[in-house]
Amino acid sequence: MIKTKYSVDGSICSTLDYETNPNKYRGLITCLECDRKAWFIKGFTTAKIERTACFAAHHNEGCDASTVILINDDTDSEQGQDDHIATSDIRIDLDKTNTNSIYISESNDKHNEEESDWNSSPNKNATNGSSGFPLNKSLKQLLSNLCKNRDYAEKNQTITIVADSGRILIDGLLKDFIVPINDIKHEDVAKLRIFWGEINNLNEVDGDLWLNYGDYRKEPSIFMNSNLKNELIRNFKLKEISELDGSDVIVVGNAAVSPNGKIIIRTGFTKYISFRRYRPSDSASIGD
Ligand SMILES: [Zn+2]
Repeated sequence: MIKTKYSVDGSICSTLDYETNPNKYRGLITCLECDRKAWFIKGFTTAKIERTACFAAHHNEGCDASTVILINDDTDSEQGQDDHIATSDIRIDLDKTNTNSIYISESNDKHNEEESDWNSSPNKNATNGSSGFPLNKSLKQLLSNLCKNRDYAEKNQTITIVADSGRILIDGLLKDFIVPINDIKHEDVAKLRIFWGEINNLNEVDGDLWLNYGDYRKEPSIFMNSNLKNELIRNFKLKEISELDGSDVIVVGNAAVSPNGKIIIRTGFTKYISFRRYRPSDSASIGD
């Protein structure tokens, strides 16, 4: 789509408007039809394609305004895999991570017929990988499952996250730690949680990076100082930060509330964060 609604006054924001004044519109534009949050994709020319600037959004189903086909970078396509994950305990071993992958080992001891058993005794054998299930899953895949099913964590899976030092950071039921970025409650503040949701826009201020859910003045953001930002660019091989516009994100971190009531999530390392990125399909018709 090439037009969006500026949510402050309901006026139309065109791609030219946006490009002329990104700070005015960033985080404050929505689809004219379905009102979902939108983000700007700038035009570019390569040897193969020429793309005009446009907007994208995760439109509601059936929304006619969608002209950009977004392809996510999910890699797990094994049939039936989700059912398996849904009934397995999850362990994330942060000291086994490199660059942007966080491996989650999951038990192949399915437990799906024995709910009472695995409720009362989470499979501790699952923690050292010695019980024959070298099935590694990334934090990204947890995100992917959450994106496909918001209630994914309601199946009483357990999760353990262990830091390099061996200190247990998170240990318990997944649902007690998973928090949607757009629904952070008071009780989730100042505690280590696994936040996930959409990043609809980003901005850089004094070298620091803000990954914003929406209105950067009021709605939640993930904050990264310039060191962390540079690490992020390196580890995720980003050509530019705007590649993360419209991504889904998952981050292990702490939320705090700023003096003007905005929630800010911070994390210590880029290995605690993962993205499910979207890119416009090259075959899509763009800009009607
Ligand atoms: Zn729409």
